[in-house]
Amino acid sequence: MPAYDNMPAMDLYQPVQVDDALALASRLAQRGWLVGGGQDTYGWLKDRAKRPEALIDLAGVEALRGVRETSDGIEIGALTTLTDVATSPLVRERYALLAEAAVAVASPQIRNSGTLGGNVAQDVRCWYYRRGLQCYRAGGNLCYADTPQAQNREHALFNASRCVAVTPSDTAPALVALEAQMVIASERGERVVPAERFFVGPAIDIENTTVLRPGEILTSVRIPAKWANSEFYFEKVADRKVWDFALVSIAGVMRMEGDNIADSRLVCGAVECVPRRLTNVEQAIRGRPRGQATADMVAGMASQGAKPLTHNHFKMPLMDNLVARALTA
Ligand SMILES: Cc1cc2nc3c(=O)[nH]c(=O)nc-3n(C[C@H](O)[C@H](O)[C@H](O)COP(=O)(O)OP(=O)(O)OC[C@H]3O[C@@H](n4cnc5c(N)ncnc54)[C@H](O)[C@@H]3O)c2cc1C
Ligand code: SF4
Repeated sequence: MPAYDNMPAMDLYQPVQVDDALALASRLAQRGWLVGGGQDTYGWLKDRAKRPEALIDLAGVEALRGVRETSDGIEIGALTTLTDVATSPLVRERYALLAEAAVAVASPQIRNSGTLGGNVAQDVRCWYYRRGLQCYRAGGNLCYADTPQAQNREHALFNASRCVAVTPSDTAPALVALEAQMVIASERGERVVPAERFFVGPAIDIENTTVLRPGEILTSVRIPAKWANSEFYFEKVADRKVWDFALVSIAGVMRMEGDNIADSRLVCGAVECVPRRLTNVEQAIRGRPRGQATADMVAGMASQGAKPLTHNHFKMPLMDNLVARALTA
């Protein structure tokens, strides 16, 4: 008898009301798997690397879609597709940084179905883990990427703790830079977490990339008016211009007073398991003009303290150069 590799059977729930979605998330908890656009999820299922018993498809919950104005900025439903984020007039006019980050994700097809919630809640892209190897992140007791022979040019420079995988999300650094607030709901109520604390590294939780817990759903992302229409800079460096994850990215917001930078937030993606704020650079550039002299003054600061692996040293000058470009654009 030939052995057939069929997709394991799983239940599919398609709620249309937020309350029903929360009740299902609570009831199924660890056994269930939330699905936004499925662009991260279906890879896991096709590779048989994760086997949830039930999928909770949130795509029909209309209340979780769309961009609306609030008394202090905007609120984006977590089920809003990346295409809708990138093309929203409110986002483009006030927070062009996020529009640029959203349009940098993957390909048009993936952005048409991939959601903002799925983008920030997606798992790491380390190939050893994605292929189903039992590494630390999968509950095992070794890291396949942190060895001299490993393929680790995409991996972390900072704050690795057993796991050296990086945050793959293009929108995450932009949301941290914009001081976004993540709205998380469960049957017990709602909690609001700053984007900077939403993402967690392996020293805190090696099996999850965010503070989301079974039974919780990210319902929306609020972006305060504070940084609306600031000076923005976004750049993503990847091996390919499309359909590829960042090697390093930078998202920057700067508030100018005259010619000088009065305040800023600079955040790199793909260098740590969480978006990495460059607080030393932010402090050094305060009160200085945006330009080459300031860029020269902070040269090398972004990559200070990096602990490169065998094959990712190149990310250090890349980070430093992206800071220089953000300051001279
Ligand atoms: C070929 C390819 C290239 C890619 N390139 C990029 C890239 O360049 N940049 C990038 O950032 N990403 C990239 N991705 C990753 C991913 O597809 C996208 O980030 C997409 O935005 C994921 O969104 P989704 O809604 O489809 O996620 P889903 O697969 O639906 O969900 C992803 C994860 O988030 C959880 N989740 C989803 N919605 C919620 C919610 N509302 N509340 C709580 N948890 C939730 C799910 O349970 C799942 O664990 C790529 C993927 C592929 C397949
Ligand atoms: S880097 Fe993390 S995800 Fe990759 S093999 Fe090591 S422990 Fe697993």
